[in-house]
Amino acid sequence: MAAKVATRKAVSESPSHAAGLADRLVKLGIAREADLVLHLPLRYEDHTRVRRIDELRAGETAQVDGVVVNTDIQYRPRRQLVCLIGDDDVADGARRPQLVLRFFSFYPSHQKVLAPGNRVRVFGDVRDGYFGLEIVHPQFKVLRGDEPLPDRLTPVYPTTAGLSQDVLRKVIARAIAADASRTQDSLPEDFVRRRQLWKYPDAIRFLHTPPPRISELTQRALDARTHPAWTRLKFDELLAQQLSLKAHRKARAAHRAPVLTGTGVLTRRLLERVPFKLTRAQEKVWREISHDLKRATPMQRLLQGDVGSGKTIVAALAALQAVESGKQVAFMAPTEILAEQHFRKLSAWLAGVDVPIAWLSGSLPAKKRREAMEGLASGATPFAVGTHALFQQTVALPNLGLAIVDEQHRFGVAQRLALRGKGLAEAHQLMMSATPIPRTLAMSFYADLDVSVLDEMPPGRTPVATRLVSERRRDEIVAWVGKLCAAGRQAYWVCPLIEESEKLELQTAVALHADLTAAYERRLRVGLIHGRLKSDEKAATMDAFARGEIQVLVATTVIEVGVDVPNASLMVIEHAERFGLAQLHQLRGRVGRGAAESTCVLLFEEPLTETAKARLRVVYESTDGFEIARQDLVIRGPGEFLGARQSGVPLLRFADLERDAALIEQAREAADELLQKDPAVAARHVERWLGGREEFVRA
Ligand code: ADP
Ligand code: MG
Repeated sequence: MAAKVATRKAVSESPSHAAGLADRLVKLGIAREADLVLHLPLRYEDHTRVRRIDELRAGETAQVDGVVVNTDIQYRPRRQLVCLIGDDDVADGARRPQLVLRFFSFYPSHQKVLAPGNRVRVFGDVRDGYFGLEIVHPQFKVLRGDEPLPDRLTPVYPTTAGLSQDVLRKVIARAIAADASRTQDSLPEDFVRRRQLWKYPDAIRFLHTPPPRISELTQRALDARTHPAWTRLKFDELLAQQLSLKAHRKARAAHRAPVLTGTGVLTRRLLERVPFKLTRAQEKVWREISHDLKRATPMQRLLQGDVGSGKTIVAALAALQAVESGKQVAFMAPTEILAEQHFRKLSAWLAGVDVPIAWLSGSLPAKKRREAMEGLASGATPFAVGTHALFQQTVALPNLGLAIVDEQHRFGVAQRLALRGKGLAEAHQLMMSATPIPRTLAMSFYADLDVSVLDEMPPGRTPVATRLVSERRRDEIVAWVGKLCAAGRQAYWVCPLIEESEKLELQTAVALHADLTAAYERRLRVGLIHGRLKSDEKAATMDAFARGEIQVLVATTVIEVGVDVPNASLMVIEHAERFGLAQLHQLRGRVGRGAAESTCVLLFEEPLTETAKARLRVVYESTDGFEIARQDLVIRGPGEFLGARQSGVPLLRFADLERDAALIEQAREAADELLQKDPAVAARHVERWLGGREEFVRA
């Protein structure tokens, strides 16, 4: 390992390299010294003993001390460095078994280091080669005198380009050794003992450097992260999260929000005007929200209901209760299309109710926009609808009483935080989501929210039939959709999702539109809608579709959320295998809103991977948003589920929300006890785990 030793020296001695080291550590998520201790190995290597060459067998991973017999560059079948070593006590020239070390990439210095007569220690996977046993690209170092063997297993850490295991091992070992306070137990001894948890220092030491010759059972527990040492770390992590959530909840309770008692005048008028009766679920949820609004602590409620369950009317009622109380309401949606649709629906519902609504759109002419803003700033306009981006940038709402955030799951963690920062602490908040949150997730990330669930669909819906169809049978689908649309039905045709390139996605949409237009000639009108259109163009297209002037609407995923055209009863999704499960479920929810029998065709490209097959099967077999969300969580993990991918912040490093559900319960109970008995300890614990990062863990 001569070459590596040289780098190691350079790192500790030259300041410019030290800066490089810090950068690389940051890439691994290690921003603070304290994080080094919690950077845990992927696996371990046993360097605690050396084996003799004459006892090696192919298939083993082994460490061997030997003497170099010969080192050569060979050119066939390709350029490589081949080094022969023999057991220490067998001098060169002997016919005893030798081990071949083979390097396909090497530096000239390798040849010098591996000069005949040098003693070397090598480590790697032994396999059968043409000339007997060999190791390809072994780790190696030249032995000078007596090199003691480690007495613990050697950790292999997740690392990044330009950061060798050697360097990483050294800085981590130094961090563990340097400051005992870092590996001290943050929790009281009896607290730990009563829960039959391992002590923290023991867990840390075990996970970084386990003792050699652990049993197979222990090995498996380590790999599966069910070993008590892992359990202790997961528990600590979950405890920190629970503590932070509870602290947040408490802080919120200390804020004062306006008491929105309402008069019932506007809400009653609205209920008289809509052409339906609230479902029982809507009634119940509306009561819960109405009750919260009358309290002086800010509401933070998540209204959860599957696509089409009727969340909008509930939000409108809440909004009117705020208006009745003389306060302003901000109604935010993630996309312009959706915001616009809300605006139209609300305007229609509120026509004759005499509540001015401001529509805040990026594409509004400057003059109109200024008027809208002035109305809001003076307090004359009580109700504003728009995308959350607009609210974030420009709008002043001096008299804000309630903020409503639709399709809340679409916002990234970071975006949600930005919203929270904007003086919303003093307003009530209603968040809506069609993505059901699995119980474990609700217990952890969303534990500081109250949740209302719409668990009943409005009457008169027909369930959507789902069909999985291979891309090869696309022509049949084109013909079938054409026939049904000619007979008066309408269809969405969803373009493939191309995450890497918006431009490519756009091109595909345009091409698909041209294809279908050609296929249907003049018999059907085919529309196109995508994110790059100006918002009035989008609105015009949506309108034409809603009025039935367009029969087939080619769309990128901009239609994913909230859009409501009851006569559209067909949907085709191209490359369904590229979408997330929840996303497919939401898309499918766009149809089946009217009384007509609805069908969703998932076109997929063959061959499908096993995972892709399993995923599509879930959407095919289940129409239950909860079940689909649960499967989605299992398949994709919570980070993506929460929209954390956009923010790039890791949420839970060690615990797994699905598998560690029992630990979450335990951590919740423990958090209560700790806060009651020893708040200072609780604070110290949170600092160790979340120092500077708390904001993100609360979601
Ligand atoms: P989502 O929960 O997906 O946001 P919406 O609020 O858009 O659902 O409602 C879907 C459709 O159902 C809308 O057309 C809405 O007017 C209608 N709707 C809502 N509540 C009822 C009800 N109680 N009875 C009948 N239709 C309803
Ligand atoms: Mg909606």
